[in-house]
Amino acid sequence: MSQPRIIIVGGGFAGLAAAKALRSTPAKIILIDRSNHHLFQPLLYQVATSVLTPGQIGTPIRGILRKQKDTTVILGEVTGVDKARKCVFVSNADRQNVPVSYNYLILATGVSHSYFGHNEFAQYAPGLKTLADAVAVRNKFLQTLEQAEAEEDPRRHRDLMTFILVGAGPTGTEMAGALAVLVRGMLKSEFRRIDPASARIVLVDMAPRVLPSFSEDLSKAANERLKRLGVEVRLGQSVDQIDADGIVVGGERIASKTVIWTAGVAPSPAGHWLQTQTDRAGRVRVESDLSVPGQSEIFVVGDTASFDQGGKPLPGVAQVAIQQGRYVGKLIHNRITGGSLPELFRYSDKGSMAVVGKGFAVLQSGKVHRSGLGAWLVWAAVHLQFLATSSLRLSVFLQWIWTGLTRQRGSLLIVDHHGSKPDTRVTEPAVNAAAPHKQDLPELLPKSSGSRAMSGSGQL
Ligand SMILES: Cc1cc2nc3c(=O)[nH]c(=O)nc-3n(C[C@H](O)[C@H](O)[C@H](O)COP(=O)(O)OP(=O)(O)OC[C@H]3O[C@@H](n4cnc5c(N)ncnc54)[C@H](O)[C@@H]3O)c2cc1C
Repeated sequence: MSQPRIIIVGGGFAGLAAAKALRSTPAKIILIDRSNHHLFQPLLYQVATSVLTPGQIGTPIRGILRKQKDTTVILGEVTGVDKARKCVFVSNADRQNVPVSYNYLILATGVSHSYFGHNEFAQYAPGLKTLADAVAVRNKFLQTLEQAEAEEDPRRHRDLMTFILVGAGPTGTEMAGALAVLVRGMLKSEFRRIDPASARIVLVDMAPRVLPSFSEDLSKAANERLKRLGVEVRLGQSVDQIDADGIVVGGERIASKTVIWTAGVAPSPAGHWLQTQTDRAGRVRVESDLSVPGQSEIFVVGDTASFDQGGKPLPGVAQVAIQQGRYVGKLIHNRITGGSLPELFRYSDKGSMAVVGKGFAVLQSGKVHRSGLGAWLVWAAVHLQFLATSSLRLSVFLQWIWTGLTRQRGSLLIVDHHGSKPDTRVTEPAVNAAAPHKQDLPELLPKSSGSRAMSGSGQL
């Protein structure tokens, strides 16, 4: 009898956890991601503020799963699901909407930015979600400092050296703290006309406090720390406009050439693909075993799922995604092997942390609330532990020590492709051009499956 096929869409925290949990399952597993790497998003802000390089927080998914011989990794974008035919549609640079059939489907497609209906803000205020975003944000900071250094009229320095972060959740707060450390300490001896330490950093949010998902005492500690770092915190004010010259907040215009969006997130279109019920934020409502109502073979996990526990929806954090991915992997394994089914999904909350500048974090775990260096040490240990490979763990650990001792950054490069010529080198097509379109993937796959076979085959 042929083995069942499990398709996992997304190689983030949830998708990867599911793939790993299925490593000994007698099934063909296909993990599809539009990016070739797993990204450790919690440290994205450190790439955006030059502490780490992109390679220190991103790892090729193919490499992580190389030992799982029955797992094939496909670089492609899923564009829809046909529940009746039990297939997903996959597109890549050469082919559009190739149907790939499944027996079990796990959707773990995460979230993207939401500008709360103001999509026109996007061109002036980039968000932080992918490695490309982080490099673009880093470019923007460094480019603006270079512009200020080149500007002879000191009256223009103020606008060029005003950095605004919209959204005082963990990402905005961490970014604001890290940016303050960068400009106040590390860059100060490198410029002649400008003093980076005099840069204005403004953190704006409609909420009444920073880190609103943390307890009030920790919000207060984070706010005080931000103020000590010279960050201007403006709370309870909505951003009415963002344009090329800055923002309008609470009726006041703040001139700036660098605005970063660290506010809302929007789910992936999984709910639309499945034509199923979603919550107000658009996340797919799932059953207590994380399956989609009426579709016991389709599961939605991680940020794109809406799961209530204790009367509240679970937050969009890495631990939820990892635990849900693992749970669904185990559930499918047991269904296929006839093992006993696991209990219904229950999230075990180990706590939350956020860093504010150098050597300072806030930590909330049950009744334990801590802030300061001790919390930062726990934060550092936990984040190192969850990086995808031991080489990344070592590399990030050494980078942090090096930066702490020497104040030198991982990368202060402006990597701008502007003006570079298009790459005209001829490469092998990723897809067999002779293969008919709209053909199901099994026919396109070599007889021996497995990621290595795929990578050398020139197939999708
Ligand atoms: C800047 C930032 C900082 C954060 N900091 C923290 C933190 O400190 N602690 C914490 O717990 N959480 C943090 N989070 C949240 C955490 O990263 C997410 O909760 C977690 O990544 C969710 O995992 P996921 O697998 O659901 O989605 P993701 O990790 O986002 O993975 C989704 C994957 O799906 C792929 N994908 C999406 N759509 C498609 C498609 N159509 N076709 C193919 N592939 C697709 C994407 O390429 C991606 O690889 C942070 C998030 C951000 C953005």
